[in-house]
Amino acid sequence: MALRCPIVSVLGHVDHGKTSLLDKIRRTRVTQREAGGITQHIGASEIPINTIKKVSKDLLGLFKADLSIPGILVIDTPGHEAFTSLRKRGGALADIAILVVDINEGFKPQTIEAINILKQCKTPFIVAANKVDRIPGWNSSEGPFILNFNEKNQHPNAMTEFEIRLYENIIKHLNELGFDADLFSRVKDTTKTINVVPVSAMTGEGVPDLLVIISGLAQKFLEQKLALNVEGYAKGTVLELKEEKGLGKTIDAIIYDGIAKTGDFLVVGNPDGVIVSKIKALLKPKELDEMRDPKDKFKPSKQISAATGVKISAPDLDSVIAGSPLRIVPKNQVDAAKEEVLQEVEEFTILTDDEGIIIKADTMGSLEALANELRKVNAKIKKAEVGDISKKDVIEASSYASSNPLNGLIISFNTKVLADAKAEIEKSDVKLLEGKIIYKLVEEYEEWTKEMEELMK
Ligand code: GDP
Ligand code: MG
Repeated sequence: MALRCPIVSVLGHVDHGKTSLLDKIRRTRVTQREAGGITQHIGASEIPINTIKKVSKDLLGLFKADLSIPGILVIDTPGHEAFTSLRKRGGALADIAILVVDINEGFKPQTIEAINILKQCKTPFIVAANKVDRIPGWNSSEGPFILNFNEKNQHPNAMTEFEIRLYENIIKHLNELGFDADLFSRVKDTTKTINVVPVSAMTGEGVPDLLVIISGLAQKFLEQKLALNVEGYAKGTVLELKEEKGLGKTIDAIIYDGIAKTGDFLVVGNPDGVIVSKIKALLKPKELDEMRDPKDKFKPSKQISAATGVKISAPDLDSVIAGSPLRIVPKNQVDAAKEEVLQEVEEFTILTDDEGIIIKADTMGSLEALANELRKVNAKIKKAEVGDISKKDVIEASSYASSNPLNGLIISFNTKVLADAKAEIEKSDVKLLEGKIIYKLVEEYEEWTKEMEELMK
């Protein structure tokens, strides 16, 4: 049975090293001149299994099973906002996740938030215990962690310090959240215990271990799920909308299942339902050496298959929003695909209350995550929408406030405030909370609500 690439996402607290680790993974090379390096997709990078096997040849003994996945597809945008935006029916788009935790700093609010989201989506994950190079006295070098983790390479004090930080800052917290966890080389049953892989995004230490553990786990957990669907049409999720010179609005998407061909039809959700558009081109990034003119960054593909990232050029994409479900189908399957997409869009619709505040976000996934977190602190939500803050939103909030001042609030996650909305806010008594970190917005919501309640006494 052919397996597709598992899709991998990277999450974790700000500054714990997600971007650095992704960069390091993307730069994984066997040797300078050897072919078969990383394939750049739209919005994702594919690391072929041969590359993983070569960089980690000393570690493969850790796995009895042969790795039969073709590689892993790592989504380039880190953070749990990206993770929650990238959804598919019944859960997360990513099959598996890497949770990055600074081993010196330990668990932080966003670490816990990320774990809650992973739990909710039932996504298996491993922990990258990053910045091991900053453990006092640690002698960090590029290559496998387990070859570096011994009394020959490390001072005993550094070894002790490592063990303390590993336990106090990471394992203990995972245990408190109900997870069994251990250093990956000590894990006996990977289906019961979370693997903690020490890494340094700076030196590259532990990156081979990380790649081999994630591949092995993905294969073990996901053998069923990853069976390549060679018959069916392509299913995917919109990563973002991008204006491209000469092409107009294009969709960057991750395809998690099936096959797509040029000339097929794109069926994609938008806030009002579903749109259908004839595909002009399925585009992939050009390799650097194919790029004669830097403006000419893409090359068309006749056919693509999961899992992959792709840029879709088609007319009438203006109303499409990030996080939307999509299908790429031959003409005779457009109606069936429309049904599917509509059902998925409906699943994203957030139940609203009779009265309450307004929340807006940049994608369906982030809107849902924001709503979930707000509901945990008993917020009432009257309106939840994807999109920028408009004058209309402010006027609505102001009218909600007239019956209850606690409803005069708009919470914006990663959206713009349009100019006329700003002007309207100044004139009105509506409060606006803006931000890019969900838990901070929730905290600010609680503070504001408390202040208002005091004033109303
Ligand atoms: P993100 O916010 O999680 O994406 O974190 P970044 O990748 O932007 O990293 C935050 C800071 O930590 C940057 O200054 C990085 O250079 C630094 N950093 C990341 N990984 C490591 C590491 O393994 N070792 C050390 N010493 N610094 C690191
Ligand atoms: Mg970053």
